[in-house]
Amino acid sequence: MNYRVLLYYNYTKIEDPETFAKEHLAFCRSLGIKGRILVAPEGINGTLSGTKTATDRYMQQLLSDERFKDTYFKIDESDRHAFKKLFVRPRTELVALHLTEDIDPHQLTGKYLEPQAFRTALLAEDTVVIDARNDYEYELGHFRGAIRPEIHNFRELPAWIRENKEQFMDKKIVTYCTGGIRCEKFSGWLLREGFEDVAQLHGGIAAYGKDEETRGEFWDGKMYVFDERIGVEINQVDKKVVGKEWFDGTPCERYINCSNPECNRQFLVSEENEEKYLGACSIECAKHSNNRYVKNHQLTASEWADRLNFLEKA
Ligand SMILES: [Zn+2]
Repeated sequence: MNYRVLLYYNYTKIEDPETFAKEHLAFCRSLGIKGRILVAPEGINGTLSGTKTATDRYMQQLLSDERFKDTYFKIDESDRHAFKKLFVRPRTELVALHLTEDIDPHQLTGKYLEPQAFRTALLAEDTVVIDARNDYEYELGHFRGAIRPEIHNFRELPAWIRENKEQFMDKKIVTYCTGGIRCEKFSGWLLREGFEDVAQLHGGIAAYGKDEETRGEFWDGKMYVFDERIGVEINQVDKKVVGKEWFDGTPCERYINCSNPECNRQFLVSEENEEKYLGACSIECAKHSNNRYVKNHQLTASEWADRLNFLEKA
């Protein structure tokens, strides 16, 4: 375990994100760090991996900068890099909520709940807990009893809330996401929409899973992460699998991308069904002329045809 994976964000003013991104990229390269870091006028958001020495130096450097001195790093131990490449990119916003009028979390955001208070809220009758992530993240794991908005992408969340307002109007609302960054804005938006009692899980699921008192209790499945690990364990109390296999619905925590490059859907699939369906999410995708599974397994045209034939008869 000589490596670490870091997850962090900081809503803070960055005057010239373009220049900052260039210099930060050079700094990360010099440390041999890999990962994805976004820089915007409203702050920084990063997930990266590197050796213990490199990540120590990275954190020291960031914390020594006045703008980032209160950054909270969520740290996972690892035996390797969790990313293949390094990106440091300037953006106009850190979190894509696509609001016509933006939210500044320093001006307006929900109350912060620490893990133990969040666990209490999970069990409270008058409280609704909303998962503020994408659908494929929820599918792999989520808090027990949390509301899964019927959306594909986080940015559709405001529209969905407006359509379902009456469900939540007289309740206390608590939101959560992976590391907390999405909730900073989303909870602020909820307050602006007129919801009166809005709170957010401080530090997100990642911090909850590391809390020694809660030990991830009431989290089911794995937490989806945007690196090569895809899923990480959270619950150390009574873990259960909630992911369902795409084709047969059996318990499954194994994500792949559809072998049809034009589909590329991320779905949960067993090794057996991956092989059977040629790495595709449907027979249509298995037939696609650029199917990656067919290429990678060097199937001949007749082998491919036979396999498709078998699938269509089944
Ligand atoms: Zn597909």
